[in-house]
Amino acid sequence: AGTGKFFVGGNWKCNGTKDSISKLVSDLNGATLEPDVDVVVAPPFVYIDQVKNSLTPRIEIASQNSWTGKGGAFTGEISVEQLKDIGCKWVILGHSERRHVIGEDDQFIGKKAAYALSEGLGVIACIGELLQEREAGKTFDVCFQQLKAYADAVPSWDNIVIAYEPVWAIGTGKVATPQQAQEVHLACRDWLKKNVSAEVASKTRIIYGGSVNGGNCAELAKQEDIDGFLVGGASLKGPEFATIVNSVT
Ligand code: PEP
Repeated sequence: AGTGKFFVGGNWKCNGTKDSISKLVSDLNGATLEPDVDVVVAPPFVYIDQVKNSLTPRIEIASQNSWTGKGGAFTGEISVEQLKDIGCKWVILGHSERRHVIGEDDQFIGKKAAYALSEGLGVIACIGELLQEREAGKTFDVCFQQLKAYADAVPSWDNIVIAYEPVWAIGTGKVATPQQAQEVHLACRDWLKKNVSAEVASKTRIIYGGSVNGGNCAELAKQEDIDGFLVGGASLKGPEFATIVNSVT
């Protein structure tokens, strides 16, 4: 881990029921978490209120998406104002499932990020390459292009955490090696230094996501430019998620 405060997010995706979420919340409430770590969970929208009303305030709440602007005639969307109203502090944007399953593009994601930040939500800004892009030697190009889309859209990086999530590692059980992750994190930091500022490059936390679990988190956390994790599958198990939170070094 680097010098910034370690950050661990749990992305529950489209999983859970009232009952299973009540059990997960109770496990998280009972877990011992290292004090010097920012911990955030992202429940499905419909359970955010339940989680907000039962989860320890030690853990903050993120949504898994938000709309590009103020609410209104946008059927099926959820506005940033509504998310703040029910207690969200963060939003995950640009997740690979939204990019590659739903079809969101860089510009649309940038717009969402800018609006969420303007309303005071923190943004977990995801980036990452597909397997064929990695195999074609395009990993840095893809990540830099996605970073540029955020940089072009946002007025400030104060409230952004970057999540590097290689798409081939998400939900596959195929975690990036600590060296593979470190290499991209360092390259992204250099990109920020050259294209935004040295201050933003050193202050912005870059977290890794993609098949992180209780067994592989410690080695990843040792890398200098890995400032935390975004966790999918393993965040649905309270004790394992706590192990990942506590892997801070
Ligand atoms: C994610 O969806 O952000 C993720 C990293 O998923 P998993 O940990 O299941 O690979």
